[in-house]
Amino acid sequence: MENEPWFLLHTFAVKLIDKYMEINSVRVRFAPSPTGPLHIGGVRTALYNYLFARKHNGSFILRIEDTDQTRFVPGAEEYIIEALTWCGINFDEGVHVGGPYASYRQSERKEIYHRYAKQLVNDGFAYYAFDTVDEIEALRKQTEKAKEKPFQYDVHTRKSLKNSLVLDRKTIQELLDSHAPYAIRLRIPENEIIELNDLIRGHVAVDSNLLDDKVLYKSDGMPTYHLANVVDDFLMQITHVIRGEEWLPSAPMHVLLYRYLGIEDKMPQFVHLPLLLKPDGKGKLSKRDGDRLGFPVFPLQWKDPKTGEISSGYRESGFYPEAFVNMLALLGWNPGTTQECFSLEELVENFSFDRVSKSGSKFDADKARWFNQQYLRIRSFEELAEQLKSWLQQRGINLGLDKLLRVIPLVADRVSFVHELWDQAWFFFFRPESYDSALIKKRWTSDTSEHLLWVSKLLATAPDFTYEGLSALVKEQIDERGLHFGSIMLPLRIVLVGSSVGPDLFVIMQHLGREETLSRIEIAIEKIKY
Ligand code: GLU
Repeated sequence: MENEPWFLLHTFAVKLIDKYMEINSVRVRFAPSPTGPLHIGGVRTALYNYLFARKHNGSFILRIEDTDQTRFVPGAEEYIIEALTWCGINFDEGVHVGGPYASYRQSERKEIYHRYAKQLVNDGFAYYAFDTVDEIEALRKQTEKAKEKPFQYDVHTRKSLKNSLVLDRKTIQELLDSHAPYAIRLRIPENEIIELNDLIRGHVAVDSNLLDDKVLYKSDGMPTYHLANVVDDFLMQITHVIRGEEWLPSAPMHVLLYRYLGIEDKMPQFVHLPLLLKPDGKGKLSKRDGDRLGFPVFPLQWKDPKTGEISSGYRESGFYPEAFVNMLALLGWNPGTTQECFSLEELVENFSFDRVSKSGSKFDADKARWFNQQYLRIRSFEELAEQLKSWLQQRGINLGLDKLLRVIPLVADRVSFVHELWDQAWFFFFRPESYDSALIKKRWTSDTSEHLLWVSKLLATAPDFTYEGLSALVKEQIDERGLHFGSIMLPLRIVLVGSSVGPDLFVIMQHLGREETLSRIEIAIEKIKY
């Protein structure tokens, strides 16, 4: 059979299809720089990459862009991996899982970039710039003083600076031989409109005269972001570059690099995602907004290795990863229907860039909480009890599952987080040690102690100490005596639970039982002095 013409043809066709699939299959990457904890905007970028890759049965790659040694922060790479793992965003290739294009850490690929930088210089698309940092700084100051346009190394200024476009061959060679520090800069063409297509923004055009001759390779032997990013996207066969909008101004430079490296036909599609905006006012969501308004801007808690400062995280704040991911997915993308809750699989199924908006999305902390509530509500009481039990254990409180299970159903619909179950239920297990003084000030009157004594007597002889029995009896007696319901029930709640929280008071009493209820009233009357 192997030699039959039809079989040979079939084998050939299969190979061709494989090749086609290989060339055309989606390959996307998330390429963070390990400069600190990953901002939630970065998590969303990773998420959209992931959704797109999974939807198209493509590959998702984690590449660490650590070429700027001055901004390297220890622990940041581990943080990024841990955060994305927590979110359920997994990778096919990357620093932590390896893959056919390893290394996926740019600092380990220095030689590769040097080769490409050299090629660009040899082909006349880049040049050596020998100007020192101090010389450039002096020029900057000069323009600032003269209130001129800020200094920029570009088509206009490069002609009068210390670079290989201006210096003669001999001087250049001498400088290189003497190991004079140099940077390699991209030679931006004059008078050209550079164009590109973005899957969200559409056609983008930039006048080359406005661009500066970006440094591609630094004197410390490291490439800059621009060179390393383009070279790696090419070598790793990336098909779609999906990243934050802040990188859009860099895209024309990248287009030039593809052209100058002779790999324009391998240029990926560009997709620049809209920003995550402050909940109030204008501008990008920052850590300061989180601190100011009391919500995390990082997926996991982060301790700054230098200052020891701690920034809160969604995980530690009690968010379910599914809720966090769901909330993030909808900050920028919409499904075109009213459905709001999506599992990761459903997001994969529904996601597309034509439903990602061009304009930024305002972060909404209440909505984030709402999502968590939705995911809490679909948990069984048993699951919630397990979760609360371990949360309590971490705080040195050991309570059995059966005990927790008795009260969780009473409070589950009042909370958005597992730890809030405890806010609403701790008094089933412990007596209050203090009483809400502001409430007492507001609601206590000269009659309150007497009312409490009266109600305690009533409870002492109540024939049926259940929710139904108690609520019927107390209501009837309050009516009969012409008392005010609130002026009895609120003080009663304060003495039983310490504040105004919790489910129905008759339910609480039934659970505490007669003896405990009466003791709490007695203790409180002693303690609360009007
Ligand atoms: N290293 C860049 C960053 O930190 C990557 C930008 C890109 O995806 O091209 O965001």
